[in-house]
Amino acid sequence: MSDTPVIEIQNLHKAYGDLEVIKGVSIKAGRGDVVSLIGSSGSGKSTILRCCNLLEDSQQGEILFKGEPVTWGGTGHSRRPADAKQVLRIRTNLSMVFQQFNLWAHMTILQNVMEAPVTVLGRDKAEVEEAARGYLDKVGIGDKCDVYPAQLSGGQQQRAAIARALCMEPEALLFDEPTSALDPELEQEVVRVIKALAEEGRTMLIVTHDMKLAADVSDQVVFLHQGLIEEQGTPEAVFGSPKSERLRGFLSATM
Ligand code: ADP
Ligand code: MG
Repeated sequence: MSDTPVIEIQNLHKAYGDLEVIKGVSIKAGRGDVVSLIGSSGSGKSTILRCCNLLEDSQQGEILFKGEPVTWGGTGHSRRPADAKQVLRIRTNLSMVFQQFNLWAHMTILQNVMEAPVTVLGRDKAEVEEAARGYLDKVGIGDKCDVYPAQLSGGQQQRAAIARALCMEPEALLFDEPTSALDPELEQEVVRVIKALAEEGRTMLIVTHDMKLAADVSDQVVFLHQGLIEEQGTPEAVFGSPKSERLRGFLSATM
């Protein structure tokens, strides 16, 4: 097994115009690692995920996918604009699940899951359908193939979005607050799916406000404060014996 990380973020800097929001962040996720990003609203968690997935450019530092630099934007000697092929490869391999599910309302659940593998990746339709049905079964909504998103609960919609991400056969999954839009009782059905994915050894970066989820699934927890890593470590260290005053304050406000 290779020890090249699946995702390696090195000294990332990102600004929106004049507003510098990521100020030198380094994070590594090896194969099968689950890394959770926690921190107050506005600390830069989503921006980091979006940079990994090339939904945002950045100004300094590198993001490596299995050792290959994929950083987009800026002017440094090792930086380059990502071309369309590279963007597609990265988005396929680092498949993202959003807070608001982002399912296509006019497509059935099965069509939602099949759409990108068939039309974007050009995979065989029959094979994709079989895989898609399998992933929908896996997330517990195999009986919802032919209904439209509006007919599902939020928890079911999010599970469909997870099946859609899995159907890209990605190297890693990026979750951006996957349970934040859900009522507490629906949250748990999504948490169970994420835990099962962690147990099967999926590489995942998870932005979450759910400290219990972060504690249960993570190999590493990263606490961000204003665009910098304030503290990071195992869940035992971060939740059990937090060193930074800010982290202690954050945890006592959220747990
Ligand atoms: P988090 O996910 O931790 O809440 P974000 O990464 O969304 O934080 O945001 C980090 C900072 O960047 C915040 O100050 C936010 O207002 C700002 N920001 C996020 N997206 C944009 C954008 N598209 N344009 C300008 N500022 C943005
Ligand atoms: Mg966010």
